[in-house]
This record gives sequence, structure tokens and C-alpha cells, in this order.
Amino acid sequence: MEIVRTISWMKQAARDARRQERVIGLVPTMGALHEGHLSLVREAQKQCSPVIVSIFVNPKQFGPGEDLAKYPRTFEADRQALENAGVDYAFVPPAEEMYPAGFRTSVTVEGLSERLEGRSRPGHFRGVATVVLKLFEIVQPHFAFFGRKDAQQALILRQMASDLNLDAQMVLCPIIREADGLALSSRNAYLKGEERRAATALYRSLEATRREIGAGERDVARLLGAMRSVMEAAPGVALDYAEIVDADRFEPAVGLRKACYALIAARVGTTRLIDNALIEPEGDTIRVTV
Ligand code: AMP
Repeated sequence: MEIVRTISWMKQAARDARRQERVIGLVPTMGALHEGHLSLVREAQKQCSPVIVSIFVNPKQFGPGEDLAKYPRTFEADRQALENAGVDYAFVPPAEEMYPAGFRTSVTVEGLSERLEGRSRPGHFRGVATVVLKLFEIVQPHFAFFGRKDAQQALILRQMASDLNLDAQMVLCPIIREADGLALSSRNAYLKGEERRAATALYRSLEATRREIGAGERDVARLLGAMRSVMEAAPGVALDYAEIVDADRFEPAVGLRKACYALIAARVGTTRLIDNALIEPEGDTIRVTV
């Protein structure tokens, strides 16, 4: 595996691959890699060669009071994991390489970026869209792989790709979970003792939704009530939002006749976690994927 730290070198390597008519796959990450990230890598490897994994803790997507300084940075372990996985390139630019002095441009996907995660984290999606557009420009991937765990992010990036006529095809991959249901996240490393146990509330609230829908419940307000009551019963867990939104616009769902997401965000101690379930009508029944 080649470790690339400059934009010019990454562009050159990607250009060479494209000239050889190879199919380039990009997996953007912030490092502190876990099985969730590696599942994206494996999916990329099914369709692409070379596979490029970027590791960049993007300062522009962290708000002033957020965890940029303490975000886990585990480069040596990440390098080893990517090497073992057979990744071709790790693109690990320093912050000054991505945002040199005088950098002034940002990308805003209007409307979608202000709701839900965007309301709790102002400026977050502007930072995400800006860095992903830069990565797309540098690598010009044929395919880019994202996790469904960040469903709103995926929708925003899809919208950006469509609005700006980007060629990259976006692939959305399933959520990888711990044995007790907690969605893998680099931020899980912050959870201590009791908090780690309490953090399963997010998954349990989505499971409650799945059970209720399985038992025939179709009323969005009652489903939200079930989600919220699981969260309220969990010690040390502060719910940020529980919402059911339609999958194409992330507007509050009025029923379950179209594909929806049940979204949940909460603080466990000082750690902010998100999770979701995909709700899809399937003939006379409804399939819920947690
Ligand atoms: P991050 O490093 O947190 O920015 O995540 C990089 C990519 O990995 C994003 O596309 C995430 O959605 C994806 N990802 C993070 N956690 C998981 C997970 N538990 N399962 C699947 N994908 C994930």
C-alpha cells in the first residue's frame, strides 16, 4: 500500500489509474478505523481497483465546542488495517495541504443541511460537502463508498453530486454493529463503563420501532413515542432527536407508504451518537433494516 500525503501525488496516481482504464474506488474516512470502515473497503474492492482510502480529520466539519482536538487518531493501527485489507492507496493529507492559508471556498447543500444533524451541528454538512468535493476532484473516483449510518450525510452528498454533475457513483453500505447492537463508531472509544451499556439505547429504540411495525403499527406519532420511551428509560442518555423522515427529502414522514428512515441522535454522557433504521414498503408488508 502506498501512503500519499500530497494532493499532487494523489492526483497523479489517480490519473495514471484512469489512463489504464482501471475503476477507481474511494472510501472517505476520518480514521480511527473499525469494521464499519473496513466493510466499505471490502465493498469497494468488489467493484474497484485501485481502492483509495482517505484518512482526514476534517477540521471544517467540527463546530467550535466539538471534539476536533480529542477525536481519536490511530494512524499506525489504521495503516496496518488498510495494509492487511489489501488497500492500494491511503491518502492522508495534512490539514495545511487540504486547507492552505487563504482557503476561502465552501459548498452548501441548501435546506437539507440545516435540519436534524445540521440543526444540532451548524456548519457540519458544509464542512463535509466541501471536503468530499475536494476529494472527488483530487481522485475523480468512479465509485465512492459511504455508510448508511450517516444517512443524512449520504443524501446531502448525493444531492451535491447531482447538482454539480459529478461523475462519481455513490454506493451506500449497511450499518455494521457490535454484538449488542451498538453501531460501530470511532466515537464509541469515548464511552466508559456504564455509558457503553447505556449507549445500546439507540439500537434498542430502533428495534422497538421494528417490533411495533412488525406488529402492525403504522402510525408515525406512536412509533416515535415508542422510540422516545426507550431513550427516556436509559440512564445518562439525553435524546437530541428521534424522527421518522421520508428517504428522499428527509422531511417528516406522514405515513409509511414510501421508504423512510427512523433517525435517532443522543448524547451518552458527553459523547454524541447517531443511528438509524431504514423502513421500506415491500408489497403488503414493511421491511425494517436496523
Ligand atoms: P467517519 O470516519 O466517521 O467519517 O466515517 C467514514 C465512513 O464510514 C462514512 O461513510 C460512515 O458512514 C462510514 N461508517 C461509519 N461507521 C459505520 C458503521 N458502523 N457501519 C458502516 N459504515 C460506517
